[in-house]
Order: sequence, then C-alpha cells, then structure tokens
Amino acid sequence: MAYDFDLFVIGAGSGGVRAARFAAGFGAKVAVAESRYLGGTCVNVGCVPKKLMVYAAHVADELEQAAGFGWTLEEGHFDWGTLIANKNREIERLNGIYRNLLVNSGVTLLQGHARITGANEVEVEGQRYSAANILIATGGWPQVPDIPGKELAITSNEAFYLKQLPRRVLVVGGGYIAVEFAGIFQGLGADTTLLYRGDLFLRGFDGSVRTHLKEELEKRGLNLQFNADIQRIDKLEDGSLKATLKDGRELVADCVFYATGRRPMLDNLGLENTGVELDERGYIRVDEQYQTTAPSILAIGDVIGRVQLTPVALAEGMAVARRLFKPEQYRPVDYRNIPTAVFSQPPIGTVGLTEEQALEAGHKVQIFESRFRAMKLSLTDIQEKTLMKLVVDAETDKVLGCHMVGPDAGEIVQGLGIALKAGATKQQFDETIGVHPTAAEEFVTMRSVTR
Ligand code: FAD
Ligand code: NDP
Repeated sequence: MAYDFDLFVIGAGSGGVRAARFAAGFGAKVAVAESRYLGGTCVNVGCVPKKLMVYAAHVADELEQAAGFGWTLEEGHFDWGTLIANKNREIERLNGIYRNLLVNSGVTLLQGHARITGANEVEVEGQRYSAANILIATGGWPQVPDIPGKELAITSNEAFYLKQLPRRVLVVGGGYIAVEFAGIFQGLGADTTLLYRGDLFLRGFDGSVRTHLKEELEKRGLNLQFNADIQRIDKLEDGSLKATLKDGRELVADCVFYATGRRPMLDNLGLENTGVELDERGYIRVDEQYQTTAPSILAIGDVIGRVQLTPVALAEGMAVARRLFKPEQYRPVDYRNIPTAVFSQPPIGTVGLTEEQALEAGHKVQIFESRFRAMKLSLTDIQEKTLMKLVVDAETDKVLGCHMVGPDAGEIVQGLGIALKAGATKQQFDETIGVHPTAAEEFVTMRSVTR
C-alpha cells in the first residue's frame, strides 16, 4: 500500500527534529507535526532559556569578584524585563533556524496538534495523513502534586515568562530544575528558599557532590529546607502566597515554583486507537529499538522516560532514522557513561558511576577526592570551594566515575566523558599532562587515595 509518508513524526522537539532530518537525509518522505513551538522543550522552555538565565544570574558573581581585581564599579541594577525580552528574541531566532533546518531537509512541516487515528494514520487540523511509520516524540510536561492551591503555583513553563522577578520565591523539589532555578532566582536577587521532601537533594547523584553543593549553596545564603513539603497554598489579601507545610510551619512568598518532575505528554494523542502500551510509570513502553507494542509506531525522548536529556533524545532520534532508512549504519544508543551537568551556582558536572553505585555494583573502589579554592578567587574574599572526585576500580584501575562541583564543571566533564567511554584507567589519567593553570588539571593530578 502506498502511504503519504514513510515517517510521520509527532513533535518537533529535540528527538523529533533529529529523527525527521536524518530520515529525510536518507531519502525518506517525512512529515513532522508540531502543536506548540519548533525546537520543543529544550529550545523554548528548557536548556536554552535556562542557560541564558543562569548566565544572567552568574553576572552577580563576576561583579562581586571584580573588586579583588582592581575594578571599581558603580552600583549595578538588574532589569528582569530586559533579560526576558532579549531571551525571547533569541528563542524566536532559534525557532526560525529549526524551521529552516526542517524545510531545507525536505521535511513537510505541519503546524497543529497531531492525533493518531489508526496504526498508520494521523490527523492534524482535521486532515488525515497515512504513514508507514509513526514516531511519537511528544516530550514531557511539568507535574505538580495535587494539593489545595496548586493552581497558585508556577512551573518552569511559566517561570520563563514572568512579568517581573518575584521578591520572595519558594522553590519546591530537589532535582535538576529546582536546584538550577533556585540559583537563578537567588543570583538575580530574589529571597529564595528551596524546599525538598527528603534528607538531601539531588537523589541519585554522588554523595560527596550532594553534600558539597548543599554547603556551597548555604554559604551563598540560599535557604535550604530539607524534609519539608507543602500541604496547601493560599492567597493572602495582599496578593502574596502562604504555603502551609506538612509540619505546620507557614512560609509567605510572592511565587511558589514547583519542579517536582515531568510526566509524559500523551494528551489527546489518540493512543486508544492503537496497540501502544504504557509502562508501569505511565511512559510509552518501547523495545531496544524504540518500537512500541504497535509494530508501525515508535517512540523516543522524554515520552519513553529513560534519560530525560536533550543529547539522549538526539541520539535516539538518530538511531530510529538509521534503523528505518539506513540499517547498515544503525548503532544502538549507549546509555552508559552519559555525561551531564546541573547548572546550579556553582554547577555540577558528572559522568559514570557514583561512589554509591560503584559499591552497589560490587566494585572494590578507590576514591580520590580534592577540595580547593579556585585560583580565580584568590584575590577576593569569596570562600567557595571546588570539589573534584574520581571513583576508581581498585582491581582493574579503570576510572568508573568523575564528579565535580565548581565553575565550568559542565565544560570540563565533557572531555572526561570521552575518556571514560574509551575505558581510561587511573594510570592513564595520571600520565596525562595537565593544562596549567586550570582547575581541570586537578583531575590528572590527584595522587593520594582519599578512601
Ligand atoms: P520535547 O523537546 O519536549 O519536544 C516535544 C514536542 O512535541 C514539543 O514541541 C511539543 O509541543 C510537541 N507535541 C507534544 N504533543 C504533540 C501533539 N500531540 N501534536 C503535535 N506536537 C506535539 N536537558 C539537557 O540535556 N540539558 C539541559 O540543560 C536541560 N535543561 C532543561 C531545563 C528545563 C527547565 C526542562 C523542562 C528540561 C531541560 N532539559 C535539559 C531536558 C530536555 O529539554 C528534554 O530532555 C528534551 O527536550 C526532550 O526532547 P523530546 O524530543 O523528547 O521532547
Ligand atoms: P527530577 O525528576 O530531576 O526531580 C524531581 C524532584 O521533585 C525530585 O527531587 C523529587 O524528589 C521531587 N518530587 C517528586 N514528586 C514530588 C512530590 N509529589 N512532592 C514533593 N517533591 C516531589 O525532575 P525535574 O522536574 O527537576 O526535571 C525533569 C528532568 O529534566 C530531569 O530529571 C532531567 O532529566 C531533565 N533536566 C535536565 C537538566 C540538565 O541537564 N541540566 C536541567 C533540567 C531538567 P525525590 O528525589 O524524593 O523523588
């Protein structure tokens, strides 16, 4: 049977755009439907605007350090409106680039909500299209717990478009987004409190990293409240918000920001018309090659709930395009040793196993840990410490994990990711000549075992 398209992609986000462009490049006839914004979460309400706002917040650090280097500055003033307007202009520019990328690759771009109406059929704006393969790349959406007053809270989606910087902010959650936005709000001058329900935030990250970041954030004056959870939110007469915690405490703020995870975006997708099954967590169930339980339908990215990172969605998109249209070039995505950064202030960079994971996996480990005050701070009164840590297999000498909290951690860990992928040993780290004077050289000069 002749179909309208070889591949119909739902969602022009990180994964969808990559799959569509590659598939078209391999000669396939491809359509992409996008209901909201080209480039998806990452470009519009994720990585990109977030990083721009992290840069904005970081300027405060640079200004604080300037005096030590002999600079006398007039008292600075930050204008939220200017930041948001400039950020929006840049996002619009990127939207245009995504449009050109797709159109120039020969992809048919359909604007509107897509609903699957059959194993090989999708409806967009009342028009039905047939396709040999359908790829679901619809991403995720913020999830706020069902508490009284939840409608008074905002999520990352709204935070990027606030009319003004709130004076007092409560950030709820202890994952990537909570920690990053707490740094943004505080860096830009808001009185910021982070509330996390457990003993220590960033569950799943290395223990030393979590403790170190906690200490550094407290030094900066961020109010960290662990074992704290909001029971209800009420609006007060003056327009501010009162959060009542489960332990009875009451906190008043101008903004309550929830970053308590993301759910898969399946709204009105028409999965009931297909044999697509969900897993026990509610994400789309796929096999090793991203095929759902319906043979003609595939899924990638945040909607499958594996690793919710843009570069992972890109890799999955590429794998699907190759699998379908260039099988001789197909390579499975390697989910081991994925480097990642949390753009907190200071940031985290990490790749490979945490000390806890290495022990749990039965490795005998040697830990190399270093804490130091970065050279850049030596002419200032700032007491921030950088943490670097290597987790090494004591028997094979292989480096299992590299972890850092400190300036440029994300930039530094990218190269270490290649080393770990290549199976580097601690001896090879030691034999690598450092770049001097940098903070990064510490990763190749840690000689004594800490534990
Ligand atoms: P998305 O990028 O979410 O794209 C899905 C697209 O599908 C959207 O454009 C949506 O509008 C569209 N869509 C949904 N349903 C339909 C439908 N029925 N019809 C038509 N279109 C539809 N990752 C990093 O690696 N680094 C970071 O620094 C980082 N920062 C982040 C910061 C924030 C605040 C957030 C929320 C996320 C961040 N992420 C980051 C995660 C990253 O954004 C996601 O992992 C990535 O965007 C997932 O890509 P995706 O293709 O699966 O989905
Ligand atoms: P995460 O899953 O990272 O964190 C969610 C946090 O919310 C956890 O601390 C969790 O606690 C807490 N939580 C969950 N449910 C509740 C609840 N009902 N009440 C109170 N607290 C709750 O999600 P995020 O929203 O921070 O980010 C989503 C994903 O986006 C990330 O996992 C990451 O993959 C990606 N991302 C990547 C970034 C980067 O690469 N720099 C930046 C931002 C996002 P607990 O640990 O106890 O379960």
